[in-house]
Amino acid sequence: MRIYNTLTNQKEEFVPIEPGKVGIYVCGPTVYNFFHIGNARPFVVFDTLRRYFKYRGYEVKFVQNFTDVDDKIIKRAKEEGITAPEVSEKYIKEYYDDAAALNVIKADVHPKVSEHIPDIIDFVQTLIDKGYAYEADGDVYYSTRKFPEYGKLSGQRIDDLESGARIAIGEVKKDPLDFALWKARKEPDEIAWESPWGMGRPGWHIECSTMSRKHLGKTIDIHGGGQDLQFPHHENEIAQSEACNGVPFARYWMHNGYITVDGEKMSKSLGNFFTVRDIRKEYSGDFIRFFLLSGQYRNPINFSDTEMKSVKTGYDRIVTAAETLEFLTKNGKDGMQAGEEQKLEALGQYKEKFIEAMDDDLNTASAIAAIFEMVSEINLDVKDGASKEFAQGALARLHELTDVLGILQQKDDGAIGEDIQALIDERQAARKAKNWARADEIRNQLAAMGYTLKDTPQGVQVIRNN
Ligand SMILES: [Zn+2]
Repeated sequence: MRIYNTLTNQKEEFVPIEPGKVGIYVCGPTVYNFFHIGNARPFVVFDTLRRYFKYRGYEVKFVQNFTDVDDKIIKRAKEEGITAPEVSEKYIKEYYDDAAALNVIKADVHPKVSEHIPDIIDFVQTLIDKGYAYEADGDVYYSTRKFPEYGKLSGQRIDDLESGARIAIGEVKKDPLDFALWKARKEPDEIAWESPWGMGRPGWHIECSTMSRKHLGKTIDIHGGGQDLQFPHHENEIAQSEACNGVPFARYWMHNGYITVDGEKMSKSLGNFFTVRDIRKEYSGDFIRFFLLSGQYRNPINFSDTEMKSVKTGYDRIVTAAETLEFLTKNGKDGMQAGEEQKLEALGQYKEKFIEAMDDDLNTASAIAAIFEMVSEINLDVKDGASKEFAQGALARLHELTDVLGILQQKDDGAIGEDIQALIDERQAARKAKNWARADEIRNQLAAMGYTLKDTPQGVQVIRNN
């Protein structure tokens, strides 16, 4: 597999530290709110990366943190009149709810800052001992200039960064480029822990250096996150980890592109800010995931009604093909028919195309194109009906690929409500009695309820419009 490594700005053959194993660390959410469609992209992209590695036979350890100690959480707690841990607990629960809807599998470890305070203090102390950090009025800062390679990930020169840097009010750092590893408590009711530098809490960047080392080791295979985290967050993680551990931090850095809304950057002030929770009112989580994978992960995705609708048409084609096959597994002919073995065999070529696309820096857009081609061929294959056996085989081949992308996961048992079944039976009776007007009326009624009826040589197929 080839991966575009942000550290070297080129596609590289992926070589794991230990053969057959891969460790992945992804920066997770700050849990003070529902996550928006832009936050959702890395969750879905790296979940897909994880699924793909597993599909290719790797043993994967996947770690994604929760930032549960942060200024935004403290602010939110004040606004709502509850404690900071109450805020983070609430939004961790909401994260799991939305993530499950997007078919994002739980990480092997979801470490929280609040549960790693002693590890973080230890990490910060080592940086002080090694001369990379200093204490000032209960804060601890990282001396950025002590790390000569600073800027290597984002491709910036330290002197250029210096001119844009400022010291904020209340900060006591020696150099505007320095960043906080530990923050002294400012107000008596603020969440804080005992430390060698007094009561306080960790800065943001230090948590990822500490928790990735604890759960994946000093050097990790892949570090992922949104493009917006590249600087300063990931640059600071590298500075902390490599200064502390004396070995390279992450071998491959993967960053997903932005999501724009109607061509503009998504922001609260523009009012074009969409949470996944809100989008789920209109679209299924399964489809939202498909939408997020419809572009290669490094490219920007534009989120708009038009875009969603056009992607939905393609998604529906795959769903409909799966439903048709599902129907035929129960209502198809018995026993493989002439030529069906060869037809099944021929579907194998799309798996090859799919793998080729995924091996090329996780190109889900091309992988989905391979699925579309497969679906077109399946539709031709079953045009005049098919055997149960063929349908089962083709369905398994289709699901093998959609499972890797984590789509078409919200399968139900295909059961139809009694009221719907009664209408279908009534329509059949009307057709038998040649009462075409009534039959059409029922068909329209069902369509309005979201059910399409398809008369096939094997009987009536009910298609639910997602
Ligand atoms: Zn991080």
